[in-house]
Amino acid sequence: MNQPQNIIAIIYDFDHTLSPHYMQDHTILRHAELDPATFWPSCTDLIKEKGYDQELAYMKRMLEYDQIRSLSNQDLKSMGNLLEFFKGVPECFGELNTIFKKPKYEEFGIRLEHYVVSSGLKAILDGSVVANHVKAIFGCEFDEENGHISFPKRTISHTQKTQFLFRVNKGLLNLDQDVNDHMPEESRRVPFPQMVYVGDGPTDVPCFTLMKKNDGFALAVYNPEDQTRRSFEKCYQLTRHANRVHFMAPADYRPGSHLRLILEKHITEVADRMVDSRRQSVEGSRVPAPLP
Ligand SMILES: [Mg+2]
Repeated sequence: MNQPQNIIAIIYDFDHTLSPHYMQDHTILRHAELDPATFWPSCTDLIKEKGYDQELAYMKRMLEYDQIRSLSNQDLKSMGNLLEFFKGVPECFGELNTIFKKPKYEEFGIRLEHYVVSSGLKAILDGSVVANHVKAIFGCEFDEENGHISFPKRTISHTQKTQFLFRVNKGLLNLDQDVNDHMPEESRRVPFPQMVYVGDGPTDVPCFTLMKKNDGFALAVYNPEDQTRRSFEKCYQLTRHANRVHFMAPADYRPGSHLRLILEKHITEVADRMVDSRRQSVEGSRVPAPLP
């Protein structure tokens, strides 16, 4: 079945893209009184010494602490209100949506959707204010036993993140749907040229690459308040030397910021192209009435 293909989608990474912190730092680690400066290196040890995947390493380390193992997914969700965001989040979601509240876009039902794909924990994001503004959140998940988090149920590594871009592309948001099923371009819910990916660093490279290869839009953000400039350096490398993204900008989502100007310009251009092509196809399909 052909899709109307009237949706533009922005997909955001979370840690250091929408928030200046790792989501675990101010939530689970603070609850368990663990210092992020020792917790994260202990995860790196597992990766280096035992060959763990990054996400399995942090989930295993968390389960080693009684104060964390005793939590439920609902407890993680209720920590979502402790998250901190970059300036302009979450207001930017609704503000960007208003761009399409114009008759020329409404005539063709053109609208914007937001998604988050993270290697952090979905439960925490589900309890955050961001959840009210996005169509779907994808992230790592713990199973539960007797009301306590137990084994990792799902992990999303940085390479697996691309699977979720295909899910948005094909409209297969339900995780029991097989994203590898063949689907012709005209049946896809959000074609890649109507997708934008916003991320912050090397872990977003597979997503940036997928976007660039398929005529989507790749945008890297950095923390302008990071005095070490590490955040800026990561972005600079991606943009200048690796040619992975179309633009880089400070992670400031407020109206009038560099990032907002780029995002608004791009999605407006995409929407105008969609309007033009729909008008042309309406014109092309019109059959003149016979002359009297
Ligand atoms: Mg990130």
